[in-house]
Order: sequence, then C-alpha cells, then structure tokens
Amino acid sequence: MSQVSDNPFKFSDTNKRYYTYDYYLRHTYGEKCAKITLDCGFTCPNIDGRRGYGGCIYCLSGSAAPTGRIFKAKADTSPYEIEKIHKQYLDGIEMIQKKWDVKKFIPYMQAYTNTYTSPENLSNLLDGISLFENAVEICIATRADCLEDEKIEIIDTLSKKIPVSVELGLQTSNDETAKKINRCHTYAEFEDGFKRLRLGAPEVKIGIHIIDGLPGETLKDMESTARSVALLHPDSIKIHLLYVTGGTVLARMYENGEYTPMAREDYIQAVCNQLELLPPDTVIERLTGDAEASCLLAPLWSVKKVSVINDIDKELFKRNSYQGKRYLK
Ligand code: SF4
Repeated sequence: MSQVSDNPFKFSDTNKRYYTYDYYLRHTYGEKCAKITLDCGFTCPNIDGRRGYGGCIYCLSGSAAPTGRIFKAKADTSPYEIEKIHKQYLDGIEMIQKKWDVKKFIPYMQAYTNTYTSPENLSNLLDGISLFENAVEICIATRADCLEDEKIEIIDTLSKKIPVSVELGLQTSNDETAKKINRCHTYAEFEDGFKRLRLGAPEVKIGIHIIDGLPGETLKDMESTARSVALLHPDSIKIHLLYVTGGTVLARMYENGEYTPMAREDYIQAVCNQLELLPPDTVIERLTGDAEASCLLAPLWSVKKVSVINDIDKELFKRNSYQGKRYLK
C-alpha cells in the first residue's frame, strides 16, 4: 500500500492526510508563498492590565513585564512608523530568499495583539501594509476580545482590497484551564468575537490557534477543544505543543514540579485525534511549536519537529485515518 497513491484525503497531493498550508498556498496563489513576521509596536491587554497582568503563563513577553505595572499601549499613542515596519518586511524577504525561491509574501502582524489600538491607527496601519510590494495577503494575529465592531468594519473594508486572514488565539475551550494559564478570557468571549468577525467580515479567513499539553489537561480535554473548534468551522488552525521556555511563569511551575510536559507519544495521539475531528476543509497551518533551542527547557523531544510530523503521518496511515474522518457537521 502506497502512502501517496492510496491516500484517501482529497485535499492532498502528497502522503499528508490533512490539509497542509503548503497545499493551500499553492492552490490559492499558484505557487509557494512565505509569511514575513512583523512587530508593529503593539502590546497586549493581558500584559498591560486591561484584562490582566503578566500575560499567559508561557508568554515570554508577558513574563518580562513587572507585575502590577500598567504599560502604555504604544500603538494607541504614537503614529505608526510604517517605514520601519516596511524595513522589517524587506529584511524578512531578503532572509527568506537566501534559502528559498519565493516571490509572493504574506505580511504577518504577529507580535502581541495586533488590533489592540484605536480604529484610526488600525486603519492607517493596515492601509500602509496593504501597499507592500508582492504582498498577496495580510495576516493579523489578535485576541477575540479585541475585535470591536468598528475594527471588524475596518478589516472587512481591507478584505475588499486584498485577501486578509485573522488568526485568533484560543488555546483551549476549557475555562478552568484558561484560568490556570492566565488567559484572561472565557470561551464564550472567544466565540462571540469569532462569530462577529465571521458575520461582519465574511471574506476574511479566520484561523484559530490551540495548544496541547496545557496544565491539567487530558487527551479528552484536547479532543473537546477540537470539537468546539470544529463547530466554529474555521478556515485554518494551528495546533501547538506547550513547551517550557526559561524566564516564564511556566518555567517556575516546571522547576517546582507543578507542571509535567507532554510525552511525545501522547502528543502524536492527541494531534491525530484532533485532526480526525476537524472539518476536512480547514487548513492545518501548524502541527507543532517552534521554540528556540537556546531557551527551551522542556520537552526536549520537541526540537526534532520534522520527526514528530513524520510520526503523525505514520500514525494516521496506521489508523487508516485522515483529517475529518470523525467530523460531525
Ligand atoms: S495573549 Fe499572546 S501576547 Fe498576550 S500574554 Fe498571551 S501569549 Fe502573550
């Protein structure tokens, strides 16, 4: 039996039994594209005190903030320096093109919460980025509780000029876990933001970010998050492994024996279970995390990302399974 010719999954031309981001890009833009990550000067309401202090327990940026201090939301008060952001974009392209022959790019507003600013600033920033050369799409990473109706209108207007994707961090649908990780929003708030964005900006592609291996969660809890996500039917999803990096609250928990990272085999099972539950046409942007080896404390097996992905492929093949096999519409 060949892993490619006998692959029952329809959105694939390789051995992958899930809808890869690479497949999506090639079929949408006709060739490979690369995301260029940008830091547009934002902070986060979970760091500066609007929703919480200190950030999510695994967030290095949040942990670096002194507890109790209210940070000025830079993006609310300063005019955007679009030239500096453009320079980041050009530098990112130069780096990518040293390794790959790519000509189309997706400016990716990644750092912190990229709609946490005034509507006027957001509009100016997005207008500027939409003019970047060879940009085929704009990707905005944000929290679902930072999507006021006026901002959704701005994103909707942008999506009529250039394809737009919005990446929303959920991490878990379990409110108890959300409290443990200091997420500072509930699942209901997430769902509300997601649905208002879907209705208010129908052409925008919405991605959801979830994390496996959160403190206290079992494989059943992780399946339950996948079921909740499947009901929302996002356009894409990123599945991450929770890893421990030095200097975070999570690192202190790990060192005190209050947190045990996920075992490799459990992670492979969890991801395959979740893929089976997700809609077949939801693009899978990621299946692991990407910690820098120099600051990673655990689990060390996560460094060998390709081997983890290969074992996910093998497990799906062994199960004779694929993305969406257990999806209930
Ligand atoms: S929402 Fe994102 S930026 Fe904000 S604290 Fe959590 S991980 Fe950090």
